[in-house]
Amino acid sequence: MSGESVSRPVGRLVVVGAGQAGVHVVSALRRSGHDGDVTLIGGEDHLPYQRPPLSKAFLKDPHPAHIVFHQAEHYDSIGVRLLCGDPTRGIDRDHGLVVLESGVEVPYDHLVLATGSRPRTLDELSSAGNVFTVHGWSDSCRLHERLGGARSMLLIGGGFIGLEVATVASELGCEVTVVEQATRVLGHMLPPLVADFLAGRHAESGVKFRFGETITSFGFDANGDVRWATTSSGARVDADVVAVGIGSQPRVDLAERAGLDTADGIIVDEHLTTSDPRISAVGDCIRFPAGSRSCRLTSVQHATDSAQYLAKALLGTRPGYDPVPWFWTDQAGVKVQITGMPGRSADRSELIGDVSTGRFAVWRYDGDEFIGGEAVGMPREHLKMRRELAETRRSSRATG
Ligand SMILES: Cc1cc2nc3c(=O)[nH]c(=O)nc-3n(C[C@H](O)[C@H](O)[C@H](O)COP(=O)(O)OP(=O)(O)OC[C@H]3O[C@@H](n4cnc5c(N)ncnc54)[C@H](O)[C@@H]3O)c2cc1C
Repeated sequence: MSGESVSRPVGRLVVVGAGQAGVHVVSALRRSGHDGDVTLIGGEDHLPYQRPPLSKAFLKDPHPAHIVFHQAEHYDSIGVRLLCGDPTRGIDRDHGLVVLESGVEVPYDHLVLATGSRPRTLDELSSAGNVFTVHGWSDSCRLHERLGGARSMLLIGGGFIGLEVATVASELGCEVTVVEQATRVLGHMLPPLVADFLAGRHAESGVKFRFGETITSFGFDANGDVRWATTSSGARVDADVVAVGIGSQPRVDLAERAGLDTADGIIVDEHLTTSDPRISAVGDCIRFPAGSRSCRLTSVQHATDSAQYLAKALLGTRPGYDPVPWFWTDQAGVKVQITGMPGRSADRSELIGDVSTGRFAVWRYDGDEFIGGEAVGMPREHLKMRRELAETRRSSRATG
């Protein structure tokens, strides 16, 4: 990392995006003693909420208490002006204003973009009423209702969120078929040992996998709902419900329209400043420097850590943002906790525990350097990995 952030007077601070990162920015600013004017703008018609339960507990039991961060009074009590249900339409950088859909203009001295990501969808299914991506509160509620009467679900894509949805659907009695073009689930995120273990656990609970296949056509009923799909092997998969889990992309449209630098994410420097020094960005929407590369992360850890980092950087001098990435998923009856930068390849690994018991951990190394690992049903191993990775980072920074 190069220099340190320079503290600057924050003045009127406006945060666009009232999700995991946006809420944590305003909370961390207040905790750090900032008493200036703070406005948090959310585009959705809900109190700010967290997304992980949408594909887990909330999908089974859609009760707001599972997901809402705080009640409205909390924001009043910490002196944060919360504007929900009025998305930001544009940013007028010359005059330091954000403009909402309603036409309301909100002036800022410093602006934080926390606009998150959006799911990839399949255009040809956009008008089918039984096709779902699970990204927002209403997606999860609608799918919950539909799963009530469904006997079969086709899941397109074997990623984290899709497989969590498959777990719930299967628990609710649905016969689930996963069509995944790769030869295993989560191949870009997990080593084969862990990926195959998870697929095995899903298969034990009745989930069927069609690996190395893609969808070639859909069959629709008179209402326009999908009833079946055919795959590249010629197989027909019947479906009362279709879930699409084919990844996400950063929400950069607002930043792009404002003329900020973007490239698969809003480009920020190590202090999370965009190409405009009066605008910072945090969470899923950013692409930040990580060593000699740039990186995008989509996790609660990154949303929270980048928010807390920014709050401190805005109020005081800080070295650059250098997170210890970690992520968790709950599926097929197990919790998997993952530490380290996704996609970094190891040349050796060490197995702790016994895969057949469903409690094991994989520590991965590049030469002698610990680069990350996975803990399955072993939360203590996960915490050890995070400590170890933080220590590795500290010593590599110290040695330059
Ligand atoms: C179903 C699901 C399950 C997940 N499970 C896990 C998990 O188990 N573990 C994990 O680590 N991570 C998980 N994640 C990922 C995690 O939730 C995200 O990484 C995290 O929410 C990112 O926080 P964020 O604030 O950057 O984005 P978000 O939380 O998505 O918040 C962005 C907010 O910005 C708002 N917004 C966007 N544009 C505008 C605009 N123009 N005007 C106003 N508001 C705007 C959006 O409406 C949204 O509310 C999951 C995500 C999903 C969808």
